Amino acid sequence: MQRHFRNTALAGAAAVFLTFGAATAQAEDIPANDGLNATYWMQNAVEYKANAYALYQLAMVRLDQALADKSWTAALEQTGDYQSKPPAVILDIDETVLDNSPYQAWIVEKDKYYSSKTWTPFVESQTSRVIPGSLEFTKYAVSKGVKVIYVSNRKEHEEAATRANLKKFGYPVDEDTDVVLVRGEKEEWKSSNKTPRREAVVANYRVLLQLGDNLGDFTDENVGGSPSERLETYKKYQAMWGKQWIMFANPTYGSWEGAAINNNWKASSSEKRAMKHAIMDEWEGPK
Ligand SMILES: [Mg+2]
Repeated sequence: MQRHFRNTALAGAAAVFLTFGAATAQAEDIPANDGLNATYWMQNAVEYKANAYALYQLAMVRLDQALADKSWTAALEQTGDYQSKPPAVILDIDETVLDNSPYQAWIVEKDKYYSSKTWTPFVESQTSRVIPGSLEFTKYAVSKGVKVIYVSNRKEHEEAATRANLKKFGYPVDEDTDVVLVRGEKEEWKSSNKTPRREAVVANYRVLLQLGDNLGDFTDENVGGSPSERLETYKKYQAMWGKQWIMFANPTYGSWEGAAINNNWKASSSEKRAMKHAIMDEWEGPK
């Protein structure tokens, strides 16, 4: 029995060694892409899923509060006599409603970078997934008589596939009026800045909540600014976070990264890494 156990243990050790050996050989071929941890986390970590789900649970509570308070609005663009307008919520799409982690995983695995040449075919594949809690929230909003409006920087030629991807999961996509406001759909919507599209929404609705993963999903103030300028915007609207404005985590991409690299997207990976290191505050280490 003892001997058998030892043999088994030895065989097990050999198997571990061989597996480790194979993994090591393979690992040498894997590119050292800086997006690995963030992409892995968003796609696979329950810590991310629970976080997103919790934010959508919070959004339902805030929705009820907003419905009960006619003076409540989530849009800085909303002025004048809006109290009696029908209620709506504005949601960003990418990494707010739809999960594009397979595209990010492709970037990491192949050591690529974002490009519209590869992004459009991904959108057309209609393989984006569901951000946890988003389906429940949008259906809850509809059940309360609230219009669900998507404001996305996906482009006009990507709208049909985007609508199909949303409908595939059962997201509300009303047809009586345009509820998917994408970039370039109108002349005045050519910019990635979302203010003109928010202005179009507030013309007809009282906006109860805004949900997004990027500063620009809430305001265009300092979206492309430096980290310290963006911090000013964050502080200026402190009272809105978690109330009228719900921000989702997205460590894989965003205007925060542009701020970190002075919007120099053409810089090499090592140059981008150096710029991020230069901004980070670090402990001097043990004495
Ligand atoms: Mg987004």
